[in-house]
Amino acid sequence: MTALPHVEPLPSQSSVLIVGAGPTGLALAVSLRQLGVDHVLIDRGTGIGPGSRAAAVQPRTLEYLDRIGVGAPLVRAGTKARGFRLHDRDRTLLRAGYEQLDTPHPYILLASQQTTEEQLLTRLEELGGTVHRRHRLLGITPDHPGVSATVAGPDGVVRAVSARYLVGCDGLHSAVRTAAGIAFPGAAREQLFALADVRLKAGTRAAACEDPTFFLSEAGMLLLSPLADGLHRLVAPAAPGSAAPSAADVERLLSERGPAQGAARVTEVAAASTYRVQERVAESFRAGPVLLAGDAAHTHSPAGGQGMNTGIQDSGNLAWKLHAVLSGTAPDALLDSYHHERHPVARELVSFTARFAEAATLTDPPACTRRNALLAAAADTPGITDWIAAKLAQLDIGYTDRPDLGAPRPGTRVCPTLVPPDGLHWTLALPATATTDPPRLPPEHRPLTVRHIPALDTTLLVRPDGYLAAHGVPAAPGEVLARLAGHLPLEPAA
Ligand SMILES: Cc1cc2nc3c(=O)[nH]c(=O)nc-3n(C[C@H](O)[C@H](O)[C@H](O)COP(=O)(O)OP(=O)(O)OC[C@H]3O[C@@H](n4cnc5c(N)ncnc54)[C@H](O)[C@@H]3O)c2cc1C
Repeated sequence: MTALPHVEPLPSQSSVLIVGAGPTGLALAVSLRQLGVDHVLIDRGTGIGPGSRAAAVQPRTLEYLDRIGVGAPLVRAGTKARGFRLHDRDRTLLRAGYEQLDTPHPYILLASQQTTEEQLLTRLEELGGTVHRRHRLLGITPDHPGVSATVAGPDGVVRAVSARYLVGCDGLHSAVRTAAGIAFPGAAREQLFALADVRLKAGTRAAACEDPTFFLSEAGMLLLSPLADGLHRLVAPAAPGSAAPSAADVERLLSERGPAQGAARVTEVAAASTYRVQERVAESFRAGPVLLAGDAAHTHSPAGGQGMNTGIQDSGNLAWKLHAVLSGTAPDALLDSYHHERHPVARELVSFTARFAEAATLTDPPACTRRNALLAAAADTPGITDWIAAKLAQLDIGYTDRPDLGAPRPGTRVCPTLVPPDGLHWTLALPATATTDPPRLPPEHRPLTVRHIPALDTTLLVRPDGYLAAHGVPAAPGEVLARLAGHLPLEPAA
């Protein structure tokens, strides 16, 4: 007799119910587990799906993954690219190199989404967490002050789970978003794209391509990017009704649009598909006890490798806030700041990737010539390529545009090379003049780590997600903790 697979019993209540164990839900579960927040993670699927939708992990994401113990193993599992390139056949128009970026990870990490999810899952299990697979969310009803969710299990039985907060990490077609009545305005683009992950015969320029490269010529756009396991990904606009690209299609695209030198040969098509881009941002990332994160909250063109990265950082923004609220350190209103901080990030991302996709898919020859001349001129303008690299690396993301708050501005990222993080602790960074020995903290103060940073000229209080909470605060940890509520982003960013 074959033994049935063991299914963990689904708890009937929890502080947080996470729906969806893609990269966003897994990152949230790992973070909550590390913070000691009781939660349940469900997913309707049977396990991590094969293949690589997201292939690029950006530096800002790696900085957060370092905090939750996933950065180092993921870096070991992936390969590093030095930045993005824009080419017209063999001519470099612009190179956004990551080498100069101020981060412990000055590179794009090429790792399949499957690998990223596996590393997150390994960490979750190390921390004693689990995913309740084959559990589908059917609906939610108010259960003041939280919600009650109905969940269909693998045995076909429908159970109720009550939770103080429910986070929808359930992707583009989010059932949570629909059940919470949150609108998802935007549009689907007409343009169809063809995608193929292929193995190329060695010895040509295409096969030697080491950095994600957009080829922009009158023949049309082609993205050629190495993947972690010796494969290359190609993405190109496709005619309406096109089938998934074959090896011959890929060779033709490379010969018409890619490097001019050497005819590329495809020895294996590992995956091929077509897709249409949707550009949408949920009207709100919060409706009472329901929150949205990842693709459930925003979706856009995958060009530039940003979607999964944004979802993981949504989770980084949300996790410590849920912990603060559930542990009684902060009022429920702190969760409003999740929407106020992350919604503009998603809107900007959709607009940036849309503008890029429009420029990249131009086909009118004079417009292509003007675009390429503009890009080449931009590459020669000091600061432009560094600005582009920082944007794609997501290192430019910050949560305030209030110059009245003085520099360094609360809400700006604190580089981990300046103030080394300590997991998901708050960090109090003291300048040389403050004290010579970091004080020993009593157990109740442990969520605050004290660092002694000689390069500083003022104290910095850094949030668990790596953003500045306040500067010039007292050097006494007990006092800082007692006044922590005063340093929380409780007001919408102006
Ligand atoms: C071709 C392509 C290339 C891409 N390349 C990149 C890239 O290089 N870099 C990048 O950052 N991003 C990239 N992306 C985007 C990236 O894949 C997504 O942004 C990412 O998967 C979003 O993760 P998520 O966890 O929010 O959602 P998903 O990965 O969609 O996960 C949602 C989970 O929710 C579960 N679920 C859904 N409904 C229910 C329900 N009712 N009950 C229970 N569980 C449910 C699903 O089973 C699934 O596991 C790419 C996307 C595509 C299509």
